[in-house]
Amino acid sequence: MSDKQLSRREFLQTLAVAVPAGTVMLQQAARADDLPHLDPSDPAAVALLYVEDASQVDTSNPMAARYQPGQHCGNCAQIQGEEGADWRPCGIFPGKLVSAKGWCSVWAPKP
Ligand code: SF4
Repeated sequence: MSDKQLSRREFLQTLAVAVPAGTVMLQQAARADDLPHLDPSDPAAVALLYVEDASQVDTSNPMAARYQPGQHCGNCAQIQGEEGADWRPCGIFPGKLVSAKGWCSVWAPKP
């Protein structure tokens, strides 16, 4: 087998993996854009004190005792999706987008 044949085989194997992976990534990005925004009045959101603007966290609530200024969804370990987007998927609220400026009581720093 020549080097040229081997290179062609490697190229085709790489292409066979890369094209489906790229298609899945594009589909996920398109789906993320289609997701509804998490309603702060949703029972799950209320239970975790979710707010669309971290400056509105009810610090009188004991469940918000860990809140510190500067914490927001955009720098939480649970945030997903495109860096810098205003609304992004969150691992805690599947099927919904959360505000990058938001916060909930599950907030944890990115590793
Ligand atoms: S888990 Fe993190 S990203 Fe998700 S809503 Fe709570 S603070 Fe925001």
